Amino acid sequence: MRRLSSVFLAVLAAVGIFLVPASPAAAAEVNLGLSATASASYTSPWESVAAINDGIDPPSSNDTQNRRWGTWPNTGEQWALLTWTQAQTLTSAQIYFFDDGGGVRVPASWKLQRWTGSAYVDIPGTYALAVNAYNTVTFTAVSTTRLRVLLQSGSASVGLLEVKAIGEGGQQPSAWNPPANLVNPLNQVWQHVESTYPNLYGFRNYGWDQVMANRGSINYCVRWDSSAPVSAALRDQIHAALARQFKKWMDVMAGHNAWPYQSVPLKVVGWAVRDRATLQWSDNSVDVYVNDIRENAPQCAEPCGRFFNQSGNYPNCPGGASHHYDMSLWLTAGMGGGAGGDWGQRVGSEYYVNAINAENMHILLHEIGHSFGLDDFYDWTPTGVGGFLMKAGSASQITEFDAWMLRDWWRHLKSRYGY
Ligand SMILES: [Zn+2]
Repeated sequence: MRRLSSVFLAVLAAVGIFLVPASPAAAAEVNLGLSATASASYTSPWESVAAINDGIDPPSSNDTQNRRWGTWPNTGEQWALLTWTQAQTLTSAQIYFFDDGGGVRVPASWKLQRWTGSAYVDIPGTYALAVNAYNTVTFTAVSTTRLRVLLQSGSASVGLLEVKAIGEGGQQPSAWNPPANLVNPLNQVWQHVESTYPNLYGFRNYGWDQVMANRGSINYCVRWDSSAPVSAALRDQIHAALARQFKKWMDVMAGHNAWPYQSVPLKVVGWAVRDRATLQWSDNSVDVYVNDIRENAPQCAEPCGRFFNQSGNYPNCPGGASHHYDMSLWLTAGMGGGAGGDWGQRVGSEYYVNAINAENMHILLHEIGHSFGLDDFYDWTPTGVGGFLMKAGSASQITEFDAWMLRDWWRHLKSRYGY
């Protein structure tokens, strides 16, 4: 379901759109790791696994300036993983070890593995153990969605400063070059959007507008429309799950068609609840709003909400602009299905908590798609396209077609931000 805020709709004359697939990007060796998502077997709380694909060349293995990935005090077999939303063709990798001469040292041995879809398989190669330098491994080209660095510790814990996954560019599209078979259905979708939403170019509160207003981040408020208690741990899990799902959409944009953000950090700044006692924490890490009821549900303060302040100024938000929220995650007890729009997403609180560790929370993903303008497909299907997330019930994750629909929105809106 979708619902954008009601605004006065100005009727725009439909504009003919002609889609011409650009010629494929010239094949060039590029670091595809930059568009991957990094994860690891374990990360020391003061380190960051995002360090391994942030594009920063370390000054030395004992880098004290930039963020690092390390497993101290854990030892034994450890791993760091790069995951892409689409398969990448890789031909080499360059690994820079973290070694501080103390608790984190180069491993005793290491190797690369690729994901086959069901298992990790070793990539044959020569694995060096140099410090203060990249260790390069070249191999026969592999196509995979995951590259894993498997480390066996030696005298201490292990860590990495950077992982470059080298392959041919063009796998991660850098411009408007959808697969040929998607050009026609994407054309149909955009014409349908233009004819259905005549004010689509006048509307200024898409997720796009929110991310750009924040220069690459997004703030949320949780509307806890339930009497079920929430521990601090559950609060943090709800935050983490939302960030993981939101990231799936933003990863589609990383590196594409001048989209300026490699990642879009998500922060939950507030919680709204009927009764303060429902929230079982006493720290002040988030703003708490009690019994401010709208639509028969608790909400965070309107002076802090983007929906109510679409100029992007929050003069009456008690904590100032940094405490503003762009969207609400509205979790309603006993609700099935969902709703999404510029105001945020609404799903069942039980659904959310039960799916909190799911790889794909597909209802939430679908509703986030609406927040970025994507439409429903209740009564029609673009020609030649199978199941996809925005056609409710036909897919449970973001498909390539969903990804290209999102990119199409950016293609049509980016000029409003100067791109
Ligand atoms: Zn929908």
